[in-house]
Amino acid sequence: MIKRLFKFGGASVKDAEGVRNVLHVLQHQGAQDVCMVVSAMGKTTNAMEEVVSSYYKAKKSNSEELIPIVNESLSPVKFYHEQIIDDLFGSSAEEVKASVAVLFEEMFGFLAWNKSLNHSFIYDQIVGYGELLSTTIVSAYLSHQGIANRFIDIRQYIKTDSSYRDASVQWEETNERLKTLSSSKELLVTQGFLGSDSNNFTTTLGREGSDYTAAILAYGFDAESVSIWKDVPGVLNADPRAFKNAIQLHQISYTEAIELAFYGASVIHPKTLQPLQRKGIPLYVRSFLDLENQGTCVTAGSPLVPEVPCYIVKKNQVLLELATQDFSFMAEHHLSSVFELISKYRLKVDLIQNSAISFRVCLDNRFDQFDALTQELEDQYAMKFQKGVSLYTIRHFDEKAYEALPKESKIVLEQRTGETLQIVAGE
Ligand code: ADP
Ligand code: ASP
Ligand code: MG
Repeated sequence: MIKRLFKFGGASVKDAEGVRNVLHVLQHQGAQDVCMVVSAMGKTTNAMEEVVSSYYKAKKSNSEELIPIVNESLSPVKFYHEQIIDDLFGSSAEEVKASVAVLFEEMFGFLAWNKSLNHSFIYDQIVGYGELLSTTIVSAYLSHQGIANRFIDIRQYIKTDSSYRDASVQWEETNERLKTLSSSKELLVTQGFLGSDSNNFTTTLGREGSDYTAAILAYGFDAESVSIWKDVPGVLNADPRAFKNAIQLHQISYTEAIELAFYGASVIHPKTLQPLQRKGIPLYVRSFLDLENQGTCVTAGSPLVPEVPCYIVKKNQVLLELATQDFSFMAEHHLSSVFELISKYRLKVDLIQNSAISFRVCLDNRFDQFDALTQELEDQYAMKFQKGVSLYTIRHFDEKAYEALPKESKIVLEQRTGETLQIVAGE
């Protein structure tokens, strides 16, 4: 029976040493009753995004250089994985390299024959190979080291709609399929981030979606716990890359974790928590380097141990301000059409502020569609916008909250709701 989900992110498998450490984690924790969800190695997903954008540009302009362009952008990805294979397998590297070569052939095949100009569709067919490559290597390495395991193509189990790049899980069908796996007696190794639609095309669950995959599987398997292994000791009260002296949180409630992740604490993907909360499955966020540290436990119960303010920064947001052109108030029908367009262009709303004559919204321009949005709005509204602003969210704020802002930042908007203070600041 599968009882524990382990998720290893890109940072944990960024090189051969990382993959060896994954083996060490399994040996330390025991591999029985585990399903491992593995992300693409290191920054592979970013590299695959580059492959898609250079292919897309060439395809759109009918470039005759299409195949050389694909070759050029894919070859560093191939080289990177082959180096890791050489390091891990030494003289028996050839067999694994052959399995990896098949995946590259599939990618080439798709790109050579593809007729679609749907960018998001192409993106999902290609970017997910990052995960297929990493799991092929990790599964082969564990076998090589005597850890029996079964490689699972998760696309056969997680079914989604066809919203490429941000697919929604079809829970009933997914859970039905997962039932057939839950009684497995072997260690399972599978990909995060991926699913497939009704035509069996690959879909992705949104960037950083592998945490969510672990939660989907834990839900379907009725698992006892999920552990996500990170390069930080656990959930801290701030991103240690942005704040010195961040403090480790030992326990947080599902609700608190949902709030932190929703506002942008990138240590947990925001969609991860709700399936776990529904079945009361605890989530452990732990360090893959310090196995003695118990990390952070997300479970029902006290909101936050220790009780400290939590700081979250989302950089590179856009602040958009709209007013009507005929001096009328911003009424419901205006707001409804604005939100329809925001949803059409798949921008994410971080914060809203509405007054009688103007409407301000801070947006995450996830898919680079903000300019297309403004083109549709400019005829109807007087519009101002500021790109590159930062959104600071402080949960459980105290009088020292403003000290967390960089000295040079200019506050453009501020909002307090219950225990949450949000500030939009420009440079
Ligand atoms: P993965 O390897 O699983 O993809 P991520 O890089 O997505 O891991 O997540 C870990 C990173 O999240 C850390 O290196 C850290 O910089 C960042 N992070 C942001 N907010 C927090 C926080 N509140 N607590 C811990 N880490 C955080
Ligand atoms: N590899 C994907 C990404 O980098 C998914 C993940 O790592 O969670 O976004
Ligand atoms: Mg990640």
